Amino acid sequence: MVTQRAYQFRIYPTAEQQQQLAVEFGNARWVWNHCLELRNTAWEADQTRHNYVSLGRHVTELKRGEFPWLANGTASCLTQTLIDQDKAFEHFFRRLKNGEKPGYPRFKSRWDRQSVRYQLDQRQIENNYRAGEFINLPKLGEVNVRWSQVPAGVPKMATVSRTPDGRYFISFACEVEIQPLPLTGKTVGVDLGIKDVAVTWDGERVTQSGNPRHLKRRLKHLKRQQRRLARMQKGSHRRQRQRLKVARIHARIAASRADFLHKTTTTLVRSADVIALEDLHVKGMMKNHCLAGAITDVGLGEFRRQVEYKARWYGRTVIKVDRWFPSSKTCSECGSYQEKMPLRVREWICPDCGTRHDRDVNAAKNIRNITLGNRVTARGGSMNLSGLPGTPGEARTDAEKFTETDRMDRAA
Ligand SMILES: [Zn+2]
Repeated sequence: MVTQRAYQFRIYPTAEQQQQLAVEFGNARWVWNHCLELRNTAWEADQTRHNYVSLGRHVTELKRGEFPWLANGTASCLTQTLIDQDKAFEHFFRRLKNGEKPGYPRFKSRWDRQSVRYQLDQRQIENNYRAGEFINLPKLGEVNVRWSQVPAGVPKMATVSRTPDGRYFISFACEVEIQPLPLTGKTVGVDLGIKDVAVTWDGERVTQSGNPRHLKRRLKHLKRQQRRLARMQKGSHRRQRQRLKVARIHARIAASRADFLHKTTTTLVRSADVIALEDLHVKGMMKNHCLAGAITDVGLGEFRRQVEYKARWYGRTVIKVDRWFPSSKTCSECGSYQEKMPLRVREWICPDCGTRHDRDVNAAKNIRNITLGNRVTARGGSMNLSGLPGTPGEARTDAEKFTETDRMDRAA
């Protein structure tokens, strides 16, 4: 299967390259803001809609006349800025039409992360780029890249950015060919609410440590430095320096959490053929401190998004289990339902059949039971258990029954 895969690497431009990049960032930002203003006034005046073609002509005129310094940058970067603005507007109108929160394109500030997009000449790519070795960019020449892995393809475009704390990155997407993984014969029910990230039905825990000790130390460090910042005099030089320091620690923590989340989702997808995700509920998830931090960093949907696209890559199936399915309150042996199951109860004995349960394992078994009750045939697909009308199988009715019971509980 061919898919797009994104890469990001830290780069170390020389002083000279940094100067040229400052020019590129400045031009891109200026053109973006200038053209955004132009679009706004043209629309207000007589509902004229501009696009990157008409604005491109305008920018060329500016370059020849009033603003000759625009020629110091790379011409294709300016074109790309205008194309990106077109896309931002398309996105805005699409969201507006769908009744979502629209997000009107914003002016760019010099205090934010700066970025510029290079169009890479596909005919010259052989001289400009070799995966894992070098990348040549217009007006910059060869840029020093720290290749943390070797990209699997050739990029069509590359974004160079500078963070507010002065680090530089390059990011791009390549088409990569992905082979499905061999089958494991396992189903994993993901219960994010509890100690481990995921628990398989046979009681095997899929956990990803992702070096939480490391993270803990960093969080402690961050707290200390934040306290120091708070004590410093407002407007002082030292405070300014301290703020930068805190920003750097923040960035490092965010990076290690993102890394942790990726490792977790990869381990999960590798571990089984069928992955049943319980609808995520925030409160329960906060129990897993490390994952909770990682998820609040990137947003709730990101965990699921990663699981879903990785499942597609590797030929796994993702099933969504209704969030109201009381997986921890139900005995996986006899199906009896417990009214109360506080979170502190880690182990319990079913009053009806006498089976001894580990809370997590029992929940996972229940999720597995209802997934096995549904015919799971399509590999690499994803289906929504709760949303499918008339899905065949006895377990479906069970799931419905549970859903009803639990809802009634809530109402009472
Ligand atoms: Zn029982």
